[in-house]
Amino acid sequence: MRQGELDVGDVGQIARTGAVPPGQDIDAVVAAAHARALRHSQGAVADYIPVLAEADPELFGLCVVDVDGGVHAEGDTGALFSIQSISKAFVYALLCDALGHEEVFDVVGVNNTGAAFNSVVAIELNGGHPGNPMVNAGAIATTALLPGDSAEARWEGIRAGLSRFAGRELEIDEEVYRSETLTNQRNRAIGQLLESYGRIRSDPAEAVDVYTRQCSLLVDARDLAVMGATLADGGVNPVTGERVVSADVCRDTLAVLAASGLYERSGEWLFEIGLPGKSGVAGGLVTVAPGKAGIAAYAPRLDSAGNSVRGQIATAYLSRALGFNIFASDSHYSRGDLA
Ligand code: GLU
Repeated sequence: MRQGELDVGDVGQIARTGAVPPGQDIDAVVAAAHARALRHSQGAVADYIPVLAEADPELFGLCVVDVDGGVHAEGDTGALFSIQSISKAFVYALLCDALGHEEVFDVVGVNNTGAAFNSVVAIELNGGHPGNPMVNAGAIATTALLPGDSAEARWEGIRAGLSRFAGRELEIDEEVYRSETLTNQRNRAIGQLLESYGRIRSDPAEAVDVYTRQCSLLVDARDLAVMGATLADGGVNPVTGERVVSADVCRDTLAVLAASGLYERSGEWLFEIGLPGKSGVAGGLVTVAPGKAGIAAYAPRLDSAGNSVRGQIATAYLSRALGFNIFASDSHYSRGDLA
């Protein structure tokens, strides 16, 4: 989705390196971003996992949670959907917390593959290396590395960990899990390919099954915004006050998201929005303004790479109107700091 297609109107581009504006202002900006994106109905609901095709394409929730725990919600923010690929970001954070920067860096990698999220060719071109944790190969390798004596223990670690990010107990959508299990031959092939290269440490079929379960966890836009706000707040959930991961892990996770969070459109996203984010094929999109807020959108119509169309438009609006772009700065001369 390019600049012209983002249709954010004349929001301007304020650089704001300090705190977020007071709550009231955020509510108004979130409402305006929602209204702006609501005009758009391009894109298509994912159907390669059959049950996802049943989503109501008109649902649209937008939520900002700031690092003080303030919740600013507009639209269908209570509508539940499967987290899908967005789980990859948080499972990666849990793994980094458990194993440390070096080991995870080595085994999973941090570079964008430039290929689709379920690419097999990318693995071959990389000599069997999964590339990064935001593509399916890297996510399956990540899941396989998690501590635990059994697949069940690893799954429970993921469910409990993602629940701490969200601040409530998350549950699996059994229908999504079943539907994806019946149609995930490609992910099973990726698991076996990684095994053939010695890149996966547990049974590949089990790793793919746990990965499929993590993708089937149900969240709403508010949950996702709280999860994003936890990454924005140095690893402390700003609503529950619980530390979920370390500040170093947040920094590493956000760097990976900046490079690879929006599939093969990650460069365009970073250029236009200037924030780390992660999307999923059910229509969720979480974005993180470090030190400031988490932003989440749910709108099931996707662009051709798998990113929510309304989610991208609304987030672009918010990033500009709230001055969240991490690359934006004002000259200190223009601020009058120097006499
Ligand atoms: N569970 C999905 C898959 O593996 C996740 C895809 C996504 O959200 O990008 O195909």
